[in-house]
Parts: sequence; C-alpha cells; structure tokens
Amino acid sequence: MKRKITKKIYVGNVPVGGGSPISIQSMTNTITKDIVSTVNQINRLANEGCDISRSAINDLDDALAITKIKSLTTIPFIADIQYDYKLALLAVENGADCLRINPGNIGGKNRVREVVRACKDHNIPIRVGVNSGSVNQKFIDKFNGVNKESIVYSALDQVEFLESLNFDKIKISIKSSNVNVCVDSYELLSSLCDYPLHLGITEAGPTFRGSIKSAVGLGIILSKGIGDTIRVSLTGDPVEEVKVAKEILRSLGLYKEGIDLISCPTCSRTKIDLISIVQQAEKELKHIDKKLKIAIMGCPVNGPGEAKEADLGIAGGNGKGLIFKKGKIIKKVEEKDLLKELIVEINNYKEE
Ligand code: SF4
Repeated sequence: MKRKITKKIYVGNVPVGGGSPISIQSMTNTITKDIVSTVNQINRLANEGCDISRSAINDLDDALAITKIKSLTTIPFIADIQYDYKLALLAVENGADCLRINPGNIGGKNRVREVVRACKDHNIPIRVGVNSGSVNQKFIDKFNGVNKESIVYSALDQVEFLESLNFDKIKISIKSSNVNVCVDSYELLSSLCDYPLHLGITEAGPTFRGSIKSAVGLGIILSKGIGDTIRVSLTGDPVEEVKVAKEILRSLGLYKEGIDLISCPTCSRTKIDLISIVQQAEKELKHIDKKLKIAIMGCPVNGPGEAKEADLGIAGGNGKGLIFKKGKIIKKVEEKDLLKELIVEINNYKEE
C-alpha cells in the first residue's frame, strides 16, 4: 500500500508523519492528578504497545501532575486541553510532549498566540482537533450543515491561524462518529494539506461494536494511504483500544512488529481443541517480536493448503497435528505438544 508522505513531526521521541510507522495512541480515563492510577494505566497501555498517551488536563493539579507522571512512564504524554489557555501553558511548562487543543475554544487569538509561543519555546507540537460537535458555526452556515466540507475547512481555518504565527509543528484530527462522514472528511483533508493526520472514529461505542466500527472506518481510510497515527475510541478499558488498533494495523500490513496470527473458524473436520490452542497461542505469541505470519488450522487436508502463505503453522488431526513451514509439513506431534513445538519452530525460524 502506498502511503501519503506527510510532514514529519515528533511527539516526544515518537516520529509522526513523513512515512514513519503509524503510531498507536490511547487516552487515560483516570483522574489525571491521581498519579498512581494514571501512571499505572499509562504503563499498562505502553506494555500493550501504545506509543503515545493522552490525558485530560482539567485543573491546576492535573497540569502540575504531568512532571511526576512523566518521570514514572516511558511513552510521550499529550495534554488534552479544553477552554483554559492557562492550563495549556502550565501543561507545557510541566513537560507535556504535545498539546491537543481546539484553538477556537481557548478564548481568542491573543491566548492562542501565548500558547503557540510556549510550544515554540519548548519545541512541542500542537494537535488541532475538530470533531462533528465542534465545527465553527461560520463553516456550518457556509456549507449548509455539519459535513465533510464544514469539518475540514473549520480545521484548516485553525491551522491557518497557527501558520500565521509561523508555527507548523501541527497534526490534525477531524473526527465524526459517522463512518462515512469520517472517511470523506479525511480524504478531503488529505488532498488539501500535508500535515500528519491523527485518525479516529469518535465515540465509536462499547468494545465489540466500537471495535468493528473503528476497524471499518479506520481500515477504509488507512487503505487509501491516509493516516499517520491512530486512536481507537472505546467505552471501556483503554488497553482494549490499543489491542484493537494493533490488529487494525496488522490486518493491513501496517503494524511494525509481531506475529500475525491467523486461524480457521473450525468445522466438523476439526478433531483437536483448536479454540483452546488458539486462545493460548494468542497469549504466548503476544510478546514475540518476530514479524511472522502464523496459521493455526483445524484439519490436515485443508490446513497447510489454506495457509500456504503463512511462515509457520499447525494443522490439526485426530489427537495429533502437523507443524508446517511455508506450506510444507516438517513435524507430526501429539495434540498436547502442538503449541509448544510451534513456539520452538518460531524461535528457531530463519528466512531461507
Ligand atoms: S481448515 Fe479444516 S477444520 Fe478448519 S475450517 Fe477449514 S476445513 Fe474446517
């Protein structure tokens, strides 16, 4: 897939845009100033593969907590600011690696100017965020409602103001909970600017429904080569957002590392406990950082054939199974040893 090459910025040490790997973001749902809970959640996110975390800064204590939180975590910290430019200034002073603001709602151009000056002084970027609920009325009137044009031009209006202050460390997000509007808006925005884009389907919903909606929406946008960083928004544990984001990227060959696990849906030919083996495999293969495609299939007839493109795999038999490599059988083992032997082969795997 050919990706659009945007301008490259850095959020902390993570490159965003310019052809860099698509980074995964999530947002904490703890009270930010509850340092123990926030640090614990950020570290769980990082452990799952989150590249950048974001936290809401709602008051002075949240902003002051950033320094301590950063000292106890390893991934960049984005401060999410609504309305109060003083909190934005304080967040920057306390070490935020990026600000997420809507310049239109922090109280006038002079205040935006002050925030931009602080970001310049600390060399950090700003994410301009517009979603379907925060489109500037001027553009709603001009384009007859909340639609791709009003969303995109509302965001670009804010970008132009930042540019007029000679600031260009910008990334843009334009979110909608409507997948079609979101796809159309990102396509239009990508055709009109070269800034890195943060993708998301906002308020996607609870874990099951929201994962599907995000996969469909983000999948379409990413498959057009658009997008530099993503966040899946789910009502639930943010760690689930990271898991879903990883699988979306992996499905499109855009995830930077790890095992791509494929497995068959099982049918009456399945004579081993394939579901348990796959569940166990998911846990055990999670932290292996070889970029391999692994297939776990239920039957010996179709198994290796159906998964020929896999680097390694299992095809189940009756109480036994086959280990195969690039579609060729290399071992026959008891069912209880299948996963163990597969992992041995993964660890020994070398490209021929
Ligand atoms: S691989 Fe074999 S067991 Fe699995 S669904 Fe296909 S035919 Fe059924």
